[in-house]
Amino acid sequence: MALHISDDMLAEIRNAADIVEMISARVYLKKAGKDFVGLCPFHSEKTPSFTVSQGKQIFYCFGCGAGGNIFNFLMRYDGVSFPEAVQAVARHYGISLPEKNMSPEQKKQASEREHLLALNHRVMQFYKNILLKDSRGQGARQYLKQRGMDRQIIERFNLGYVPEGWDNLIRFLRKSRVSMEMAEKAGLIAPKKQKGYYDRFRNRIIFPIVDISGQVIAFGGRVMDDSKPKYLNSPETPVYHKGRTLYGIHEAREQCRSRGCVFIVEGYFDLLVMHQHGLKNTVATLGTALTRDHIRRLSRAAGSGDKKAYLVFDSDEAGINAAKRTIGAFLEESMEAAVVLLPEGHDPDSYLFEHGPEAFDRLAQGAPSLFEFLIENTIAAHGKSVEGKVRVMGEIAPVLAEISDPVARSLYTRHLTESLGVDESAVLEKVRETRDKPSARSKRPGESKLSEGKGPEKGPAAREPLQDRLEVQVVAMMIQNPESIAEVEERNILDYFEDPGLQALGKLVSRQLKQEQAGVSGMLNHVEDEQQRRLLASFMMEDACWGRESCALLLSQFVQCKQRRKNDLLEQIRAAEQSNDNELLTKLLSKKQKQAAGRR
Ligand SMILES: [Zn+2]
Repeated sequence: MALHISDDMLAEIRNAADIVEMISARVYLKKAGKDFVGLCPFHSEKTPSFTVSQGKQIFYCFGCGAGGNIFNFLMRYDGVSFPEAVQAVARHYGISLPEKNMSPEQKKQASEREHLLALNHRVMQFYKNILLKDSRGQGARQYLKQRGMDRQIIERFNLGYVPEGWDNLIRFLRKSRVSMEMAEKAGLIAPKKQKGYYDRFRNRIIFPIVDISGQVIAFGGRVMDDSKPKYLNSPETPVYHKGRTLYGIHEAREQCRSRGCVFIVEGYFDLLVMHQHGLKNTVATLGTALTRDHIRRLSRAAGSGDKKAYLVFDSDEAGINAAKRTIGAFLEESMEAAVVLLPEGHDPDSYLFEHGPEAFDRLAQGAPSLFEFLIENTIAAHGKSVEGKVRVMGEIAPVLAEISDPVARSLYTRHLTESLGVDESAVLEKVRETRDKPSARSKRPGESKLSEGKGPEKGPAAREPLQDRLEVQVVAMMIQNPESIAEVEERNILDYFEDPGLQALGKLVSRQLKQEQAGVSGMLNHVEDEQQRRLLASFMMEDACWGRESCALLLSQFVQCKQRRKNDLLEQIRAAEQSNDNELLTKLLSKKQKQAAGRR
């Protein structure tokens, strides 16, 4: 494979790394026996089937079949390439990677992300220094003080300021010898129409946007007066994806976990004020609607117990839109959701300063569930006249149709019929009608592109392309009892394999397990085919006990089966000869040739 980081280096990194520690930073894991389990970040589930083995240093999901080692996990979860994943683990454990081990292309890829993150970090310091220490930050300091922001919060969230002007940052970047292309890629500057660049952020308070592991991935800027746009965010970059990012998640994750609930607000200041008032289990969406991806990430961060999300809104309309879009996603993630509606004219910022956190807590206690909120408000909007009821049904039926859990759907349907005073069968009919429309289920509003084509994948139960169970079992046996490899080789078992993928896998296993240092999780680095990797991880996860006898039994079964198939083939060839079916005969003969070739 096209990997230039040496095996020794990989082994060193793998030995230093702990998969449980790395995954725990992203998914809430609970000890279960000798393994750790959590809710799978790759498919929707209510009971944890995502399993991480500390002993074997691999993960495997019994629900969707996702599996692999630490690098495979990071590649998929963080959306990075293999060298980037290796780099991330090495960095976490303080191992420096010799760059000469990588191809120029890999070096470029791996270092681009590193460079962008490092650049963002420096730029964060630059903006922060102006806010805290520079005379040009005087006005901004005054502004934040007026808004009641504590110095502590300002420092914890690394707020910054950039003065008026088109090249404040550019001059700093030049002085620091940062390439303009890199800064443009980071979304910090933009090209002018003619020639050169200008600063994206000007005369704004700067909010660094940090991912769950604490790295600066983007920036948000807010004006201090009424100029437009009020908020400006970094564009999407190789390290920043809006639909996946929640502001404050790094600071909030511990509290989300320990309290089992999270507040979701809309703005930067709302979030800061919540934290300042001790409501530290708060995150903010960044000018985008809450996506399924957001909800899944929150649910993973909040742990596997009972958990609840409070969507905090300052208007009915925002609440109704969010409710319609996200009820299904919250249900799928087994996360209760409620809507905290603030009194008119208030946002969390103004409300907390005026009434304090206790009053806010009381509002949350009495918050209606997402569905109750939606029904009440839709009925309030259309009234209970005949036409009103028809409109309410028209609006709620698509939401009900989106709910995949039949029990939940039926309970919500009952709730609707009771609130409207209509016959249940009428609502059911309407829901069925909506569900049957092909467009209703294929397109979910607010769904991010990333999670779209990536539904639950086929688990080990659906291994159609790898037909021969015996071949599968042989490979499993080789992994679970490496002592059997000698006999497999002696009897040339792998040469008789008909599935070329399994044959390659078997050869890899026999090659790798002969080298002491490779270890099972290291073997996964050599498998590029996703399905093969899943299969391998599932074998590794099993703790089957293979005695000498059961190994011998499996191998003789295998040989007998091959012999039987060979005899069947000879039988078929004889029949084809007798009936003069030349076409069939040619086919069978070439099959026989293939079988013979496999033995060499
Ligand atoms: Zn899964």
